Amino acid sequence: MKMKNYNVLIIGSGPAGLFAAIWLEKLGLDKIAIIDRNPYPAGGLLNDGKLNFDYRVGFDIDELQIDRAAAEKMMQEIKEMFIGFPRCRQVTFIDNNRKLLALADMASEHGAQFIAPEQWHWGTDNGKALVDYLRGYLKKTDFLLNTEAVAIEKSNDNNFRLVCRCNKKQINYNAQVILAAPGRSGAYWFRDIANELNINNNFGPIDVGIRLELNRQFYDFITDSVYDPKFIFTTKRHGDKVRTFCTNPGGRVRVENYGDFQLINGDALFGKKTKNTNFALINTVALTKPLSDTTEFGQSIAKQFFLLGGGKPIVQRIGDFREGRRSSFTTFNSTTRHFEVCKATCNATPGDITLAMPARIVDNLWESLKSLDKIIPGILHPSTLLYAPEIKFFDTHFSTDRYLETNIKGVFVAGDGTGKSRGIVGAAISGIIAAQGIVRRG
Ligand SMILES: Cc1cc2nc3c(=O)[nH]c(=O)nc-3n(C[C@H](O)[C@H](O)[C@H](O)COP(=O)(O)OP(=O)(O)OC[C@H]3O[C@@H](n4cnc5c(N)ncnc54)[C@H](O)[C@@H]3O)c2cc1C
Repeated sequence: MKMKNYNVLIIGSGPAGLFAAIWLEKLGLDKIAIIDRNPYPAGGLLNDGKLNFDYRVGFDIDELQIDRAAAEKMMQEIKEMFIGFPRCRQVTFIDNNRKLLALADMASEHGAQFIAPEQWHWGTDNGKALVDYLRGYLKKTDFLLNTEAVAIEKSNDNNFRLVCRCNKKQINYNAQVILAAPGRSGAYWFRDIANELNINNNFGPIDVGIRLELNRQFYDFITDSVYDPKFIFTTKRHGDKVRTFCTNPGGRVRVENYGDFQLINGDALFGKKTKNTNFALINTVALTKPLSDTTEFGQSIAKQFFLLGGGKPIVQRIGDFREGRRSSFTTFNSTTRHFEVCKATCNATPGDITLAMPARIVDNLWESLKSLDKIIPGILHPSTLLYAPEIKFFDTHFSTDRYLETNIKGVFVAGDGTGKSRGIVGAAISGIIAAQGIVRRG
């Protein structure tokens, strides 16, 4: 059977893969293909769609080996593309915003760092239209959809053979270069492949925490100015880092399924708003000896919640949490306890998050929440909901050169699944850097 040959095969059609392909075409390359196991090429671009344009948010300039000026130049180019989509609207304006300066001062009085990035948003309900718009930039790239990359083999001519499965049939493709951008959902598959090919990788930190959902009246004060405010705490008790993440004013709390466990997340629609706001509060956890495997640690926490929640995440009212008791179905919407002020948007099991979350993480989250309540009074109203577990598995990290090429020449990596980003803009930046490296090698 004749195998199709490409210059570059990109695994994953999320922002890392799509922006890599757009830049490869811009830089004059052809014979490019993007492979995705899903029928629609989008990755995480279908989720919510908040764009953070700030060099401190969603990627690490040291990890990407770029300076602030280079990051800002790439962010400007990415922004120009996204805002060509008419339903992507600016939601945070940072120029001359006196309220933001006052908030930064207040945050620092309470030991927190406050970051207000320039932000844009399109909403989950506009996700497909946004992806169609971005695909319009691609003229020479093949999309191999419903196609799962299964294995990568080195062929004799120093090229790569990508073994794929499509409609239960095996199909192989040849390429000079592989760019792996499999996102978090494909991270463990690619880690196994990388280990077979002796590609250097190690365990990165994970973020473990909760998602708060509260009546939006308590948070509108800040989200009216900053759609997704970033507060970063270093806790007094343990010296650990805790941060707010992924705020969704008028949004919904959502469950992600992983088979033997579930995780909490959140999003917002463009056209229909709820009466609530939700945001994550997460604690960064890195491990050394005797266990450096943050994947296993995070999954064991998630499974504990799954067990205690009867196959669902757990939700607890702040009123119950403060009094050291579990939430229960019978009192979940009690008006005498003022719980009716916040109506849950997600179906989780009322219970006790402290039964499944490690004590050190509970300490860190509670200390940070108390500080946040001083900056934005009211967030700890008894009706506020704490959902868990919210875990971000950014735990597979690849060592690369400054163009994101691994120690195996011809294999490049980008995006969240390889430790190069933690959000859409960061993933797009890493895809662009990899594209520049691929073109540079000739
Ligand atoms: C509910 C939710 C809300 C979010 N909201 C935001 C937000 O508002 N703003 C923000 O910046 N970030 C948000 N994120 C995170 C954002 O989606 C990711 O940071 C981003 O999509 C990462 O891009 P990526 O290209 O690295 O990977 P992804 O977008 O995950 O894309 C990876 C692609 O690779 C494919 N793939 C994996 N393995 C294989 C394989 N073996 N063969 C074939 N295909 C494979 C997958 O199907 C997927 O399409 C959200 C995430 C979730 C889950």
